[in-house]
Amino acid sequence: MRLANKVALITGAGSGIGRESALLFAKEGAAIAVVDLNEAAGQETVALVAAAGGRAVFIRADVSKAADVEQMIAATESAFGGLHVLFNNAGIFHPDDGSVLDTDEAIWDLTININLKGVFLGCKYGIPALLRSGGGSIINTASFVAVVGAATAQIAYTASKGGVLSLTREIAVEFARQNIRVNALCPGPVETPLLEELLADPARRQRRLVHIPPGRFAKAQEIAQAALFLATDEASFVNGSTFLVDGGITAAYVTAE
Ligand code: NAD
Repeated sequence: MRLANKVALITGAGSGIGRESALLFAKEGAAIAVVDLNEAAGQETVALVAAAGGRAVFIRADVSKAADVEQMIAATESAFGGLHVLFNNAGIFHPDDGSVLDTDEAIWDLTININLKGVFLGCKYGIPALLRSGGGSIINTASFVAVVGAATAQIAYTASKGGVLSLTREIAVEFARQNIRVNALCPGPVETPLLEELLADPARRQRRLVHIPPGRFAKAQEIAQAALFLATDEASFVNGSTFLVDGGITAAYVTAE
């Protein structure tokens, strides 16, 4: 098993990429701290992990709140005796996030607080725990929009993910000699509840689909597989990377019809 005797904390593990990662990491032997704001969703993930023979506990936390994040790390250490993999995955994509000209300040603040400050807080309180366990792997979820701009604007989301990317690089450099690797996972569009509303509209769906070389969106399991690689020692020299799992979107100028 690729994560035997490891403890992994996954934020936003009540849904989408986080849930699939919890299931996959548990299958590979890790004990999982399932963190989410949504208790029912998080408890459902814990039950799914347990039904598959894995070990998981639910910890409720709002990743944008320092006290919650500090407590989620402490609760993980007290449940499983350490922390080796920290997957800062929780994030939002607000339906009112749009052009810089008409996105409300409140939407900007909310998005930055969860998507960017949440990752900062996860690292701030998580790194001491990783050091106590002898080191480990941090995976921060950014997005392909951290490296390319889109005319289908979502300014707060895009800026938050750009911040995650640069924050990740700096932390990766600072802690590399203390046996901590930090990478930014940058998925392309994935069929999860995050994009449910957007992808339910055939025109908006097609507007995006045309730019994805394989002609389809990713599945959450495909992103979880990439996260698993970054979590394991197989990725022992992968540090500070912009780890794109985007089906080739950022490699494309024009896609085949
Ligand atoms: P999702 O909406 O399916 O799941 C996100 C989970 O995070 C939910 O369970 C939600 O309750 C939780 N959450 C939201 N705010 C929180 C908070 N403040 N504190 C704790 N938990 C909170 O989303 P997903 O598609 O699985 O996205 C996971 C990550 O991947 C996000 O960071 C997202 O930005 C990123 N991402 C997603 C896509 C995509 O197309 N779906 C693409 C690139 C990056």
